Amino acid sequence: MNRRNFILGAAAVLMFPSEAFAKTIVRTERSFAKMTVEEAFKDLETIRDSALKPEINPATMPEVIDRDLILMTDDMTLREATKRIIVHHTGTVKDRDMSAREAHLLHKYECEWAGIGYHYMIRKNGLIEAGRPEQFTGAHAYGNNKDSIGIALSGNFEIADPTDAQIESLVKLVAGLKSKYSLPIWEKGVVIGHRDVNDTKCPGENLYDMLNYVRNNAI
Ligand SMILES: [Zn+2]
Repeated sequence: MNRRNFILGAAAVLMFPSEAFAKTIVRTERSFAKMTVEEAFKDLETIRDSALKPEINPATMPEVIDRDLILMTDDMTLREATKRIIVHHTGTVKDRDMSAREAHLLHKYECEWAGIGYHYMIRKNGLIEAGRPEQFTGAHAYGNNKDSIGIALSGNFEIADPTDAQIESLVKLVAGLKSKYSLPIWEKGVVIGHRDVNDTKCPGENLYDMLNYVRNNAI
């Protein structure tokens, strides 16, 4: 692991002392003593400042998107088409409120992907966070990323329910994407759960059951 990964791992530990970063803690504990907290945060801010900006049309997309959390990823390719929206949960062991920043660090340094795989994340309070810039191919549904946008709701919906605020924001986001890409969201296979295309429980039974509500209300 190079120095940059060490620093970011340590920053992750400082900011997100969760079970998701248990491995990062093990990997970084020896190098952690060699750097200051300020150095670790400065490195993270450098990445944030150089983040790519996604193309978001404020006329059609929800106002609640937090555009300050746009996260830089490496080696991205422009998505060839946008025909589907694939809905996920974060699926943490405990039902908790994972942030886009945490998912970014997890995907980049634990999964060793280019960066956060989702294009949007929806927090438990309904805040929509921008993840991977929307115009690029995501990394959220194996074999199904080239024509889809990935939205993850924070939580584990096998064991808990999504919040009303999360569903309300999902409806708004799907409505915005429908307008932007002229998606026939009422047709089969356009707004789907991750489990529809891969062998996974994602997005959890309790969210999957609400996708019809989302399709019917995102108008
Ligand atoms: Zn998923």
